[in-house]
Amino acid sequence: MIIIKTENKLCLSCMELHEVQTVICRELELFKNEEVSFEGQYEYCDRRDTLLEDDENINLNSLAMKNAYRKKMDLLTSDDIMSIRKIYDISQKDFAIVLDWGQATITRYENYQVQDRAHNDILLRVAKDPRWFLEMLERAKDKLSLKSYNKYRQNANDEFIEKANELLSDSIRARYAKYQDSDLCGGVNLDLEKVVEMINYLAQNIDSLYTVKLMKTLWYSDVLHYRREGRAISGLVYRKLPMGAVPDGYKQIIDLDGVRYDEENFGDSTANRFRPSEEFVPRQLSETEIAALDTVISNFGCMNTNEIVHAMHNEEAYKLTEEKEIISYKHADKLSVT
Ligand SMILES: [Zn+2]
Repeated sequence: MIIIKTENKLCLSCMELHEVQTVICRELELFKNEEVSFEGQYEYCDRRDTLLEDDENINLNSLAMKNAYRKKMDLLTSDDIMSIRKIYDISQKDFAIVLDWGQATITRYENYQVQDRAHNDILLRVAKDPRWFLEMLERAKDKLSLKSYNKYRQNANDEFIEKANELLSDSIRARYAKYQDSDLCGGVNLDLEKVVEMINYLAQNIDSLYTVKLMKTLWYSDVLHYRREGRAISGLVYRKLPMGAVPDGYKQIIDLDGVRYDEENFGDSTANRFRPSEEFVPRQLSETEIAALDTVISNFGCMNTNEIVHAMHNEEAYKLTEEKEIISYKHADKLSVT
């Protein structure tokens, strides 16, 4: 028995005014033929040595017992269900409408009723798959207010983008797993948040930043920081391609959430012109990392694509690397910028 509160009040056990303790006891109960252990909350009268449940305790203890049962049976708890609803910021009533369940179903699940396995699986899928939620939302459109419908749709779309970005990040990390803790990434493991910030910082400070220039300025920044501080910024691994250094997985990298570019047409071809996110402020990059980026911006920011490719071709690191091979950071001391 753990005492969590002591209060002078009317004791409902002995009906006298005295110090009543609120206590927590470990309980064992049988629910749906399963023995469940949970923490019950009671008022304790030390004069009569009795535990008493008031109405609030009764509700709390019933929920605690059912949540313990849910955990034991690997079902979502009432808090889990609430969190799923929060993803879409949808009311209990509207959530039940979207799922085509009885109007009070979600309210019951969040309060006193344990959901069955079939409903549990549906809730799990709603949490994992915002596109599926969107399909059900579309089906229920006429039963919701337009304002609510629009809000839920927006939230589901945001969630979908976030989930897609998680998948993309995972796929880039999987690609980089083989480089983990090797010298090839310049003494740091891949940090995608920093990669996104580097791209934004470069785009914010370089007027016309197209793909080729972005790849080169990323490489210069990483190698320059490695030269100065003994470690790269991003953990990206760069390969020697005809136009210069290109990070492994660059096509996926530029699709990461937070990287912005416009596709511009030049005759038959298109080029990606990078621009910073609105009101971009670096949060992950350190002072020395910003300093390296600033040096690279002042040295290469005004160059056109041909000029920066030419500069890259003159770097010892580039000359000493075989075509398509990884450019080693060990050539950093020979970099043209210091
Ligand atoms: Zn009492």
